[in-house]
Amino acid sequence: MNDVLQAYDAFLRNVLPEDYAGRTNHYRHDDRLRTDFQVAAFEAGWLVPDWEPGLGGQSLSAGDSLAVRIEGARRRVPVIHNVQGVGVVAPGLRRFGTPAQQDRLLRPVLRGDEWWALGMSEPGAGSDLASLRTQARRDGDRFIVNGSKIWTTQAKESRWATLYVRTDPEARRHAGISCLILDLQSPGVEVRPIRRAAESVDAFCEVFLDDVEIPVENLLGPLNGGWRVASESLEHERDMIWVNNWVEIAQVVDPSLRRTDLDDEEMTALGRLLADAEAVRFTGLRTVFERLEGNEPAEFFLLKLLGSEAAQRATRFAMETSGLAGLCEPQLMEDRIESLAATIYGGTSEVQRNIIGERVLGLPRDR
Ligand SMILES: Cc1cc2nc3c(=O)[nH]c(=O)nc-3n(C[C@H](O)[C@H](O)[C@H](O)COP(=O)(O)OP(=O)(O)OC[C@H]3O[C@@H](n4cnc5c(N)ncnc54)[C@H](O)[C@@H]3O)c2cc1C
Repeated sequence: MNDVLQAYDAFLRNVLPEDYAGRTNHYRHDDRLRTDFQVAAFEAGWLVPDWEPGLGGQSLSAGDSLAVRIEGARRRVPVIHNVQGVGVVAPGLRRFGTPAQQDRLLRPVLRGDEWWALGMSEPGAGSDLASLRTQARRDGDRFIVNGSKIWTTQAKESRWATLYVRTDPEARRHAGISCLILDLQSPGVEVRPIRRAAESVDAFCEVFLDDVEIPVENLLGPLNGGWRVASESLEHERDMIWVNNWVEIAQVVDPSLRRTDLDDEEMTALGRLLADAEAVRFTGLRTVFERLEGNEPAEFFLLKLLGSEAAQRATRFAMETSGLAGLCEPQLMEDRIESLAATIYGGTSEVQRNIIGERVLGLPRDR
């Protein structure tokens, strides 16, 4: 273990309960622990290790930072409540925010004091985000916004949202979109949770916007430059996605490795899953090394599809081979449900295949 991982290990031992390793499933749902862990990781510079001190980091190299993230995933450290706040909004604010926006907003989102929602999808504009219709009209020193969003995770619990709106109706699809910082407590905002079969803090919401006034200084990034804000903010988390997929596959199939009652077909499926886990790991690492060399590796486009579908196969295998007992195992059930969502959010598998077809294989464009 190198010095960085030793220091991280000491931090984890200090902040996590002694019996954490043996009871991760229990502690994963401990809200207090999750909140405290985020604050502690922020203060000690382990939240975003490659960022500067004061912003949840300690300016670690990309390699060391990745090693810390892998170790965190492997030990199943408590999951941050408002994942998109730290993983998507904070990088966007750091990259595109004005000094005033960063001063006001970065620290609270990183510490988890203020939660954020992502106001992107609309009815009819999910995969095809560029067709979004929510309008923002400039009126003096403010924008007047009308429209609606859907599938907005945690909008009910959040204080803010990055709101993607059409600011130039004449411009071509991608070119007329801007990102505004919406205070969800503004007059004219109505948040309606969408009922789900299971209780969850991550409840989806619809967000309705009726003549909502947003000050011009809440524009994030350039006017009509929202497409870049969206893509660059989302890209930040790309390494975490494959790391989590790889670790999840390995952990979900781990109990099966000690079983002696699997038949030939199940053994073959298990072998394939282990190969999938390694394929995700090596492909992920290859993209990291390529990027460190300054290249944009084609493999990157494969990772989300490969990782999310393999994780889905792994949870299905675990459920099927554990029979009735699997249905009574809450963690397995949760992993299974989460894995079903992973091939939808952040770009569905079909859309990932289109991207691979166009950008890796050079096939004609979908649209
Ligand atoms: C757990 C979860 C959390 C989410 N959180 C948020 C959030 O916080 N904020 C937010 O804005 N959104 C969020 N979303 C929404 C998510 O981004 C969309 O569901 C996703 O982009 C797909 O859009 P859609 O649901 O409108 O499906 P559609 O785009 O209508 O797609 C329907 C089906 O058609 C297929 N399809 C669509 N276009 C093509 C094409 N060109 N070629 C081939 N097949 C195609 C799709 O693959 C899919 O199977 C979340 C979704 C999930 C599951």
